[in-house]
Amino acid sequence: MNVAVIGTGYVGLVVGACLAETGNSVICADVDEEKIKKLKANRIPIHEPGLEPLVIENQAAGRLAFTTDVGAAVEMSEIVFIAVGTPPDEDGSADLQHVLDVAETIGDHMNTPKVIVTKSTVPVGTAEKVRATIAPRTGVEFHVCSNPEFLKEGAAVEDFMKPDRVVVGVDSQEATDILTELYGPFVRTGNPLIFMDIPSAEVTKYAANAMLATRISFMNQIAEFCEKVGADVNLVRKGIGSDNRIGPAFLFPGPGYGGSCFPKDVRALLKTGEEVGVPLDLLQSVESVNDRQKLKLLEMVSNALAGEFSQKLVAVWGLAFKAETDDMRESPAIPLIQGLLKAGASVRAYDPAATENAKKIFGDRIEYCPSEYDALKGADVLVIVTEWRAFRNPDFGKMKELMRQHVVVDGRNLYKPAKLIDLGFRYIAFGRP
Ligand code: NAD
Repeated sequence: MNVAVIGTGYVGLVVGACLAETGNSVICADVDEEKIKKLKANRIPIHEPGLEPLVIENQAAGRLAFTTDVGAAVEMSEIVFIAVGTPPDEDGSADLQHVLDVAETIGDHMNTPKVIVTKSTVPVGTAEKVRATIAPRTGVEFHVCSNPEFLKEGAAVEDFMKPDRVVVGVDSQEATDILTELYGPFVRTGNPLIFMDIPSAEVTKYAANAMLATRISFMNQIAEFCEKVGADVNLVRKGIGSDNRIGPAFLFPGPGYGGSCFPKDVRALLKTGEEVGVPLDLLQSVESVNDRQKLKLLEMVSNALAGEFSQKLVAVWGLAFKAETDDMRESPAIPLIQGLLKAGASVRAYDPAATENAKKIFGDRIEYCPSEYDALKGADVLVIVTEWRAFRNPDFGKMKELMRQHVVVDGRNLYKPAKLIDLGFRYIAFGRP
């Protein structure tokens, strides 16, 4: 099938590469000229495991191409995915400007019948707005579908190739048939391709992210409670996660959820709730718990240093909002480092993938180190922000030699408290006695 993917970011590039991998002819279009230039030269602008070989091989095979000409990409295709960003507007609602710009271009280039698929995360009612934008611009038949994306950054290729489920909101049998064929190769092992009406598909995406964000804020509060009553949240997590009504995923306390999705999607859902007169007060709490949680690492460092930041060096392991990505959008590292600098501390940081993105935020106000151990030289405190695998079993002896004071603030509960204390560290983590 001839497919266009408009917007070649974390989602669009993965969608385009994976659809090409299953034999489709895919053209990815983006207004970012620098990005498209890089991609044409097989340089991948983001860190995403497994993505680079897919792009290189499919581009070489002639199944994947890149362009800045959105209109031409539309004309070449029978299925058009809209995968542009939907950043938060000032009032928290999803900004649909990019989505509707693309809809206008689609309308102006409707040379043949097409299925238009909203892949971006968009509030309920957006597919109708897309339809209303295209319709006056063309007499050619088209269908609009909602196909929210559930991939996780850091495992995006794996998630797209082997999805737990694919959700598609449709308005016609024709669109159902075309998308059944397109997604067939991805659901061969029986994972469901779930068709539904369009508003339900649009709500499904927000409900999924809101549920996951709720679990995170819930566990962060339980961790705080554990700290006060002498319980260990790690044991509580295991105790509840083995109940199959609850399950083990998303029960890890941490420095608060970040990234490009949960914060903005929770806010956008709250806004839609407000607009339709349904106050989503549970989610309001989820958000305020998270806002507080994001300041906790700084508080923990402050306690460890008795509030004395000047002449202190803080090592930060991990800058990305989670492991296996270079994405720093709403990363808990941002309020932490900004707070440390404001209080007068110096910061040396290491992240295996996010350094370039971090430089755009902190410039030369912090030092970027080539390894986790370099970041520790002369440090008074180590703060672990991101759960990169390389941080899970470090050389504690070497860490002790390198650090000036032996304080570890572990934002991801990676280590056994007793072990670190035996080794002579002061160990501070979420919800551990
Ligand atoms: P992104 O910022 O990485 O990429 C968006 C791309 O769209 C950019 O490259 C930008 O240049 C391009 N773009 C903007 N306006 C354009 C236009 N008019 N024409 C062509 N290209 C245009 O964003 P992302 O993380 O890929 O997210 C895209 C959408 O998918 C969002 O709605 C997001 O909420 C949703 N989503 C993201 C994830 C994720 O993990 N990142 C997961 C599921 C869903």
